[in-house]
Amino acid sequence: MQKNDTAVTAITDIGVNGEGIGKVDGYTLFIKDAVIGDTVEAKVMKAKKNYGYARLMKIIEPSPDRVEPVCPFARKCGGCQIQEMSYERQLAFKEQKVRGNLERIGGFDGELLDQVMEPILGMENPFGYRNKAQFPFGKDRNGNTVTGFYAGRTHDIIANTDCALGVPVNRKILEIILEYMEQYGVSPYDEKSGKGLIRHALIRYGFQTGEIMVCLVVNGTAKDLSHAEKLTEKLCTLEGMTSISISPNTERTNVIMGKTYEVLWGQGYITDTIGGIRYQISPLSFYQVNPAQTEKLYSTALEYAELTGKETVWDLYCGIGTITLFLAQKAKSVYGVEIVPQAIDDARRNAHINGIENAEFFVGKAEEVLPKYYAAHGENAAAADDADNADDMAHADVIVVDPPRKGCDEALLDTIVKMKPEKVVYVSCDSATLARDLKMLCGNGYELKRVRAVDQFPMTVHVETVCLLSHKSPDSVINC
Ligand code: SAH
Repeated sequence: MQKNDTAVTAITDIGVNGEGIGKVDGYTLFIKDAVIGDTVEAKVMKAKKNYGYARLMKIIEPSPDRVEPVCPFARKCGGCQIQEMSYERQLAFKEQKVRGNLERIGGFDGELLDQVMEPILGMENPFGYRNKAQFPFGKDRNGNTVTGFYAGRTHDIIANTDCALGVPVNRKILEIILEYMEQYGVSPYDEKSGKGLIRHALIRYGFQTGEIMVCLVVNGTAKDLSHAEKLTEKLCTLEGMTSISISPNTERTNVIMGKTYEVLWGQGYITDTIGGIRYQISPLSFYQVNPAQTEKLYSTALEYAELTGKETVWDLYCGIGTITLFLAQKAKSVYGVEIVPQAIDDARRNAHINGIENAEFFVGKAEEVLPKYYAAHGENAAAADDADNADDMAHADVIVVDPPRKGCDEALLDTIVKMKPEKVVYVSCDSATLARDLKMLCGNGYELKRVRAVDQFPMTVHVETVCLLSHKSPDSVINC
């Protein structure tokens, strides 16, 4: 097929980005917004030898899984990819995506996966789940200041203050900001010229506490924000308002937040809880965006770890210590490792405000910190036959990893294999790298015991997975 050709095709599969896949005489078409089960007319926009990307022109016969999107901007907006697919079908797609990767990349056979895969954990109400949103500001074609979301793969702003994934209060906050900008002539930032003041509004909402944070990212300082007190006055009328701040960002960059923040009103953070643990969240801290599902994700990780209170646990890629503190409640001691120093500051503070004393945190790369400790406290001590020195830290009963999309570094996997923890709990946001890493671990003494996908991001193609690996022959320590 060639560019601008049109064709009618039945959608028989879903691509990794949620696009429908159809075949025309053996030629594969990827069609955004087409749902599996649809028959559609599509126009080829980009043609390669064996496959092409096509635009959905007409739905000839809708799929039984096709639903009316909740948001009128669902197709244009870059935030959601599969809002037109029934939620049930979304969950089946995500489960299949994890399974497919474990089979193809991990080399696990179907029979084993039938045994170890547990049903995906979805949401009862898959909308309004996000506790954080970052809205860009700009001008529309008529020169009006607008805020909303970027259209898919562009920086064109779709004016929409009412995202279906966010909380209802977002809209009120954004309208107050827009009104303030209009009244006092405060300009939105223009990416092309680098001029203008307001770049983004970060809004965070504590689902358990009802506390609200607003942080304006400005191309300047607090002094440039004329009549800022008028803005804070209005925002304070909203129930739950706890923290209003600005974050200066004068760089010509796609990075949203500045490197610092300054409080305009209230305190610099909000508090929220997950599974009974309190977290203080400042504008620059990382915090999971779907707290209801995060609790399910961490509870699954905790269940898989099967802690009795006697275990030494390492939590690698620990961020602000969310999983670490969850585990600490049931373990003897927990060690968290994270590359971002500010996240470790947060982790230590979170341990402190929860009165958790059996958690210790280290800044550094997981693939450097763990091998170093193992060499210093385990390997050498064992070689010197110095049992006293082979202390807690070199030993691990359970190792939990929750790496970014690229998965675990090989040096880390090698060390895990050497340390031989009885269990490895792998939390993953990318099932392809997960499958690659599981293959390595299962080729080196581990067995895949349990797998469960958790839907942290309904309406998008992303899916989290928790896996339990168990050592085939755990070292039985003989104390004589
Ligand atoms: N477990 C945390 C965070 C998971 S996100 C939670 O659930 O909240 C992955 C984390 O890994 C991020 O915080 C990132 O900063 C960190 N990270 C990335 N590369 C790393 C590395 N090589 N070593 C340690 N941490 C790393």
